[in-house]
Amino acid sequence: MAEQVVADLRDKCETPLPLLREVALAMAHEMGAGLQKEGGSRVKMLLSYVDKLPTGREEGLFYGLDLGGTNFRVLKVQLGGNQKHVVNCDSKEVSIPPQLMSGSSSELFGFIASELAKFVADEENCTNISNGKKRELGFTFSFPVKQRSVASGTLVKWTKAFSIDDAVGEDVVAKLQTAMEKQGLDMHIAALINDAVGTLAGARYYDKDVVAGIIFGTGTNAAYVEKANAIPKLEGELPRSGDMVINMEWGNFYSSHLPITEYDQELDNESLNPGEQIYEKLTSGMYLGEIVRRVLLKISLHSSIFGNMDHTKLQTHFLLRTPHISAMNHDKTPDLKIVAEKLEENLAITSTSLETRKLVVEICDIVARRAARLAAAGLAGILKKLGRDCNDQEQRSVIAIDGGLFEHYTKFREYLDITLAELLGEEASKSVAVKHADDGSGIGAALIAASQSQYC
Ligand code: ADP
Ligand code: MG
Repeated sequence: MAEQVVADLRDKCETPLPLLREVALAMAHEMGAGLQKEGGSRVKMLLSYVDKLPTGREEGLFYGLDLGGTNFRVLKVQLGGNQKHVVNCDSKEVSIPPQLMSGSSSELFGFIASELAKFVADEENCTNISNGKKRELGFTFSFPVKQRSVASGTLVKWTKAFSIDDAVGEDVVAKLQTAMEKQGLDMHIAALINDAVGTLAGARYYDKDVVAGIIFGTGTNAAYVEKANAIPKLEGELPRSGDMVINMEWGNFYSSHLPITEYDQELDNESLNPGEQIYEKLTSGMYLGEIVRRVLLKISLHSSIFGNMDHTKLQTHFLLRTPHISAMNHDKTPDLKIVAEKLEENLAITSTSLETRKLVVEICDIVARRAARLAAAGLAGILKKLGRDCNDQEQRSVIAIDGGLFEHYTKFREYLDITLAELLGEEASKSVAVKHADDGSGIGAALIAASQSQYC
């Protein structure tokens, strides 16, 4: 019975190349539809109002604040200008108390502003803010925002584990600015971006061939540089640079080609946002562990391979997390000791046989591999939209990726690389590079603040 459940899962999670090609095509198509008009696609293709990316010539002291998932980071960078790049960088990471993720917006922003004020106070001894300039901050806020300018925007909806009703429809920059003023913090928010835009900016700062920034962390998203004249919904004057960074919000992508199982359906039904963020629910760190938990629960209810056990933990949503399945998926010990440990520690599944542990590893692998292959199809979709999926132009395209899932789940990353190469074919693969952009989202915010600075 257990083998049957796994065989069924393997079958339903299959992602052969023709299916992935359809997914890539659908992604490229949705991108076009989202650019056409407001509401043209589930993939919102939001204008970021970032029309120039950092060049390496920026100079001065800038702050960044990164709020996206479970932690937020504050950082300060000193930019040397003239290709000297980042000459100094200090940062601090703070975890967000879970109750603040579903409380009121004034509590959340109050907490963030107070942590930021502490960081600035600690740092200020060693810094001189010269000639009466206000400190400038780039704010990375990784939730869908409808921007009106590079430094203002209203929250469309929460995703991931956040749900604070009174913030929806509000300007998150104004909220943060008010909270900062309450703390007596004299700082100007020069840019509002998200982690994908930040990753794009952070990587472009060092390499002008970077065309897109992608996140596979708690959630997933993508940003890329589009020609302004290819955005029919862009009203008013075109930006002087001729370019516009698009925040795709691709987590909400859906296509009938996506291989969706009963576990995904149930996860979605019971989620904070049913029917939404389907691509994110298949490909990001918040959900992969939870999918595996649901499969294990089914097995334990229909077979006796886990022995006599208390199901309380196995029935608890989100108790098995993606770092756990990653550890099990990479277990190299001959008797799969790590798998046994993780099952026992997290799910109270004790005394498993080696055969059972192997089955568990396979489940983790099936779920992570499907995620990585669908992720690769998303990347191929962007390259297709940009006309960079075949090698006619001899131009190099670099895709910068960040996020805890990509960074730590080695097999996810390997499957992603292999699948993208399969999708592009040998020739086109030569001109496409995927690289890990370490901490783009925080530094990227400070870099965009610099390139938008009122003093430059
Ligand atoms: P966020 O997306 O919240 O801004 P990160 O980019 O750091 O933050 O991603 C955190 C996510 O990465 C976690 O929610 C988790 O799903 C995933 N993750 C963290 N560590 C690991 C790991 N060792 N293996 C697999 N996934 C991990
Ligand atoms: Mg992040």
